This record gives sequence, C-alpha cells and structure tokens, in this order.
Amino acid sequence: MTAQETELFERIKAYGGPGRNVGNTLDFYPSDDFLIQLTVEYNAESASVFTMGKDAHFLWVGTRDTIILPIALYEGEHEILIKHTHPRGTESPSRFDIEWLVKSQNNGSPQIKSLILPIGKNRISFNRNTPYL
Ligand SMILES: [Zn+2]
Repeated sequence: MTAQETELFERIKAYGGPGRNVGNTLDFYPSDDFLIQLTVEYNAESASVFTMGKDAHFLWVGTRDTIILPIALYEGEHEILIKHTHPRGTESPSRFDIEWLVKSQNNGSPQIKSLILPIGKNRISFNRNTPYL
C-alpha cells in the first residue's frame, strides 16, 4: 500500500471500521492491495467506484456477501464499478454483479466490464455475458 493508503487504513481503524453501503470520497485511485487488506480486516466486500459526471473516486464497503451500490445516485451521473473484492475468494461474478452491470448499461452507462478481486486468488474481469454463480 502507498503511504496515503496506509494512513487512510489507520484512520478507518481508528474510526471503528468503514461505513457500510455508503460511498466515501477518495482523492486517489485505490490499489488492489488496499481493497484486499480492507476486505480481510473487516470481512466485507469493498469496491472502487468512479463517478462519471462528478469525476471522483469513491470507496464503498458492503458486507460479507454484497455491496448495495446504486446504478446512479444523481441524474446525469454514472457509477463506474472499477473493481470489487470477493471475501470468500469466489472467482465468478454473482448474479447481482451481472444484474448491476446490465442495469447500468440500460441506464446509459458506458461501462463494458469490471474487475473482481477474489481474496487469495488472481483478479478476474467480467462482462454482462460472463457466467455467474
Ligand atoms: Zn461480486
């Protein structure tokens, strides 16, 4: 992790853990390692999201099984799910992951694919046609 990420990680710990199912602004694009460490520490999915229209990075943290990520919070914006972790190491997208991507595209999002970081395994890419678990 970068010094900036280590500092943020310490702040999250001092705060008692990350907020759940809410986007927190990040002034940087988080590394895979940062999301993985956060996931392992709190046993929760974490995601790097870029909001088009606001042009800002956000960190989302969910639960062990999912993240409730909106399609678009505001008119004219698109939430781009750059990558998210799978705490249990599942190397496939979930039905929810695929449905989210399809809904985003139906809402005008230009996002074609996204990355999954399965804990303990190599990252994978998925699109709307990837078989889900
Ligand atoms: Zn997922």
